[in-house]
Amino acid sequence: MIGGGIAGVSAAAHLAPYGKVTLLEMEATLAYHTTGRSAALYVINYGAQGTRPLALASRGFLESPPEGTVDAPILSDRGLLWVGTEAQMGVLEEMAEQGKRSGAESELVSKEGAIEILPALRENWVAGGLYEPLARDIDVAGLHQAFVRIARSNDADIRNGSPVTEINQENGGWTATAGGETISCDVVVNASGAWGDLVAGLAGVAPIGLQPMRRTAFMVPGSQAYHHWPMTVEAEQHFYFKPDGVQFLCSLAEEVPEEPGDPRPRMEDVALAIERINEATILGIRAVNSQWTGLRTFAPDRDLVIGEDPTAPGFYWLVGQGGTGIQTSPAYGSLLASLATGSELAPELAAAGVDPAVTSPSRFR
Ligand SMILES: Cc1cc2nc3c(=O)[nH]c(=O)nc-3n(C[C@H](O)[C@H](O)[C@H](O)COP(=O)(O)OP(=O)(O)OC[C@H]3O[C@@H](n4cnc5c(N)ncnc54)[C@H](O)[C@@H]3O)c2cc1C
Repeated sequence: MIGGGIAGVSAAAHLAPYGKVTLLEMEATLAYHTTGRSAALYVINYGAQGTRPLALASRGFLESPPEGTVDAPILSDRGLLWVGTEAQMGVLEEMAEQGKRSGAESELVSKEGAIEILPALRENWVAGGLYEPLARDIDVAGLHQAFVRIARSNDADIRNGSPVTEINQENGGWTATAGGETISCDVVVNASGAWGDLVAGLAGVAPIGLQPMRRTAFMVPGSQAYHHWPMTVEAEQHFYFKPDGVQFLCSLAEEVPEEPGDPRPRMEDVALAIERINEATILGIRAVNSQWTGLRTFAPDRDLVIGEDPTAPGFYWLVGQGGTGIQTSPAYGSLLASLATGSELAPELAAAGVDPAVTSPSRFR
């Protein structure tokens, strides 16, 4: 397993019961990159249509993780309110239709309804909204740790500070070299996020065409009095914000192509987000407490890429999680394990309509 973000540890947790798993993470700590930088929301009506069933299928695990794997609930109430101006009402109606097709319980609300849910909205800006009350906050660290606990309890060997620098095909299997040590295995899982195509290159496997996209989030002063407000997202994703303790987590929701790496926030992105939020609300944001930037990595069609590469037996992809890699992680780890071991899909995946062909790397070959 290459990569110790949420993808790598979920796959490790789901595969470890079947055999020996070694997970190699190049950084000194797990979850240092995108996984540690998300907005931590669970929402059905979001992301590529093909991967939405993975979010639905993940709900059972997120609501009741296996006993002994978490110290506190992973999900907590939040709600999601999409909001728009008069000119954006068509966008919200189209989203409501998409939501219905994906099994989301969301409803269009009037201007007055939107202001009742989020009293900070400016009357002369908002014209209506789309509300998904069952959207929840995810305890990302708790979820990541749950997967690590499951993997370790099944004897997985999880190694930090182990950058994979070489991958070779040998005697019908594979070897991976990290930190001067070479490990032999039957199956390599490429869960290296933004580095996915580079890691494939080490193994002589053709790239998928993954594109990492920068997105910055930042915290501003808020108040405990607003803790029950939903996450609020502009209809065309020009900004979002949600209460986080006594602060608000905010973002411009930008998507800017970047090379794999450790991106830093840009002041102009933060300033523009503040300008837009202040135009739409009476929050009057003036100060920023902290900020960070992560890479959301997409395949060309924006669906996830899960499964064996038809050109390289034993080489599995688990990449392209984009903006939904936390909320879909229980299901895609389970799907990966079914594909790698040739076992049946878990019942919750089948019930949610997960189709392995939609996310198969074969679609790019
Ligand atoms: C601002 C922001 C908001 C988001 N909000 C949400 C949200 O609300 N809900 C949601 O579900 N998702 C959200 N996401 C998306 C989510 O965070 C990602 O989809 C997810 O974290 C991707 O996980 P990953 O394990 O693929 O990537 P990563 O966490 O980046 O893990 C990949 C790992 O591979 C390692 N690696 C790379 N190359 C090598 C190598 N050669 N050897 C060893 N290790 C290597 C890296 O060090 C890294 O740790 C958000 C993302 C951002 C940036």
